[in-house]
Amino acid sequence: MICKNLAVQGDDLFFAGRKTKDLVKKYGSPLYVLDEERLRENMRLYARSMKQAFGKEAKPLYAGKANCITAIHRLAKEEKIGIDVVSSGEIATALKAGFPLKNAYFHSNNKTDEDIAFAMQHRIGYFVVDNAEEVEAIEKEAASLGIRQKILLRLTPGIDPHTYEAVSTGKVDSKFGSAIETGQAEEITRLALSKEHVELCGFHCHVGSQVFDSDIFVRAADSMLSFLAEMRQKTGFLAGELDLGGGYGVRYCESDPVIDIEKNILQVGEFVHEKCRELGIPVPAIRMEPGRSIVADAGLTLYTVGTVKRIRGYKNYVSVDGGMTDNPRYALYGSPYTVYIANKMQEETTMTADVVGRCCESGDIIQPGVAVPESVQRGDIVAVLTTGAYNYSMASNYNRVPRPAVVMLGKDEEKIVVRRETLEDLLRGDL
Ligand SMILES: *Cc1c(COP(=O)(O)O)cnc(C)c1O
Repeated sequence: MICKNLAVQGDDLFFAGRKTKDLVKKYGSPLYVLDEERLRENMRLYARSMKQAFGKEAKPLYAGKANCITAIHRLAKEEKIGIDVVSSGEIATALKAGFPLKNAYFHSNNKTDEDIAFAMQHRIGYFVVDNAEEVEAIEKEAASLGIRQKILLRLTPGIDPHTYEAVSTGKVDSKFGSAIETGQAEEITRLALSKEHVELCGFHCHVGSQVFDSDIFVRAADSMLSFLAEMRQKTGFLAGELDLGGGYGVRYCESDPVIDIEKNILQVGEFVHEKCRELGIPVPAIRMEPGRSIVADAGLTLYTVGTVKRIRGYKNYVSVDGGMTDNPRYALYGSPYTVYIANKMQEETTMTADVVGRCCESGDIIQPGVAVPESVQRGDIVAVLTTGAYNYSMASNYNRVPRPAVVMLGKDEEKIVVRRETLEDLLRGDL
């Protein structure tokens, strides 16, 4: 089993101690389930190892875009970690969860004037500023409120992580951030320092997602710390914070590598201490922004099988009652997933089938070429593993399909944390 919270007993797949078949019986399908203990452990792993590696000022920020619901933000608050947000909608979610916004960092390569005003009215802790235009927009809004807004500057350190093009963000020609190589990072630093209502606190980078290169954060830190020291020399400004972004990869399949995040963070810590000593600067307060690696393996999606189609001599299809509307990741990136017929775990998987959704789109595939038991039939339960990240948050209402419920499984209790959408919900905006 690729995650610790999975088990097989008899014919059934268990997740977080629950029989998956029973969860479907109780809550219907499709259904997202979340393992609360796993979420907490993942948050604690970062908080603990970062403090050990970088010092007690260090802290993780949960990248809420991976799965942005109040229930997870409440856990982030309880575990005393920060969050990052990318829109007014994500800020509103954090507010509803009672999350203290002073510990929130506002990202995005294109914050609208409305977003900027909304975030500032609610006294967001930090803006992570993408470009020079945004410095001006923030200065203007902060001046009108008579406040000094803390910011970090998002820079592109010119690093190419070996991951999918669509999730690679640290290269010079990225749409995100200001490049160190072109001199624009220095320009924007000088611009920010010249502003009365902007308090520059440090720098940020994020080089990519689903990354397994073990030296990726070391390379990012190397480039960023050099820049930090260079700015101190040229402008006298010494950055107190350095945010190294998110991106640790998770295992979707047995063939994916295992990355020991704790060990890796400790290695980055050693490097950062050594490099700072070399440069003669104090170790800045380090931030990291894990999204996927906090929530992915805490999530699972359950479906009920409908049509099973055997096209003799060609291919087989197992259709489920959800699809690209609740998990668009295969359609978007060709992402791999591990898929089981969760009520037939003991049967031999002698048939190969594409597990597909119910949408009017040939690309509506959850996963092609899945090994399933020959007996797979209408009413069976399909479990797709590791769906905690970028599933619910990327879900849509294509074909006017309502979005599934989310159930949080605690150690002893469980509850619906996002209720299943109704047809009324779908029609609410139609006038
Ligand atoms: C997406 C993103 C993250 C989180 O990335 P994961 O791969 O989910 O860990 C962190 N920071 C920024 C700026 C991002 O865009």
